[in-house]
Amino acid sequence: MKKLQIPVCEPTLAGRELQYVTDCIKSNWISSKGNYLAKFEEKFSRFCNANHGIATSSGTTALHLALVALGIGKNDEVIMPTLTMIASANPVIFAGATPVFVDSEPYTWNIDVNAIEEKITDKTKAIMPVHIYGHPVDMDPLLKLAKKHNLFVVEDAAEAHGAEYKGKVVGCLGDIGCFSFYTNKIVTTGEGGMAITNNDETAEKLELFRDLAHSKEKRYLHYDIGYNYRMTNLQAAIGLAQMEKIETYIHARRKNAKLYTSILNDVKGITPPPEAEWAKNIYWLYSILIQDDFGTGRDELANELAKRGIETRPFFIPMHKQPVFKKMGIINGKFPIADELCAKGICLPSSSSLEEKQIKYVCDSIKEIQKIAN
Ligand SMILES: *Cc1c(COP(=O)(O)O)cnc(C)c1O
Repeated sequence: MKKLQIPVCEPTLAGRELQYVTDCIKSNWISSKGNYLAKFEEKFSRFCNANHGIATSSGTTALHLALVALGIGKNDEVIMPTLTMIASANPVIFAGATPVFVDSEPYTWNIDVNAIEEKITDKTKAIMPVHIYGHPVDMDPLLKLAKKHNLFVVEDAAEAHGAEYKGKVVGCLGDIGCFSFYTNKIVTTGEGGMAITNNDETAEKLELFRDLAHSKEKRYLHYDIGYNYRMTNLQAAIGLAQMEKIETYIHARRKNAKLYTSILNDVKGITPPPEAEWAKNIYWLYSILIQDDFGTGRDELANELAKRGIETRPFFIPMHKQPVFKKMGIINGKFPIADELCAKGICLPSSSSLEEKQIKYVCDSIKEIQKIAN
């Protein structure tokens, strides 16, 4: 077999990115004012059926901004899945609050909605569902629970641009939804993020805290501590060009996933990624579980794939296993499902630009590695 080099996830910059960035430079609008910002915010929020989009410097800062805008701070608790990237949890710490972790649900790998209520205390202020690897969380029971206990819902949709829950695009199902435009996400601005909301007052707060909390009445007068979490016009120019192609990217992700699953379904010991009947998964990373009867461990498989030029990623290390959170004394319970997913999960090459022959090469390699090991 010919050796190919296949990255786990790379951006596609084949639209008007260069044209729009060139326009920024020629027109001298390279900082955080300029036409592209408004256009990108408008286009992205409309795509999510949200009234407001506040572009930020990253997904991490969008999440922090969301928590600050909702008034979440000292002595507050935010409930979230343990199986996520640390960028979901850190903003809770930045805000001065405490993350409270919940185990995963074995089918979708998302937060186990049935395990949330037992974690709610007097201090709980919000729930942060994370649509992991592009599959939406079962939001209806979560939203019902939030309403019952008067909690905010901040969606971490950093991996789920265009994913749908019961026909509705995620990100606007709770109070605020946060997205990342890091280079490997579904659409990219290099670095960047956005917080979206339907609430006018919340949108005003997001804007206020994004830009140092300048008071409306007078320049250089401040009633609050704000941040500089602004996105540049240059980044937004890339984002706008990306948004002109988002449907193509989502289509490619889903088509690639279908091909992967059709081949890997027949391989013993592989669990393909989920798609619940109420969900549209956008397969940010095409992720599978390597079960015991596959014949070789997940890490061994990853090493063998690397030798064949195929880059992969293991699943995230859950938050309850992070030394930094142990050190801080943030430990609450046992998380057997997340532990299992962390041990068995691997993300395969997933770029929108992936070609059929590359997917076949990855699958053939997996089969070959299994054969050699058994
Ligand atoms: C990528 C990601 C983020 C953070 O995004 P950045 O833009 O890298 O700050 C947050 N949460 C999840 C689940 C992510 O995958």
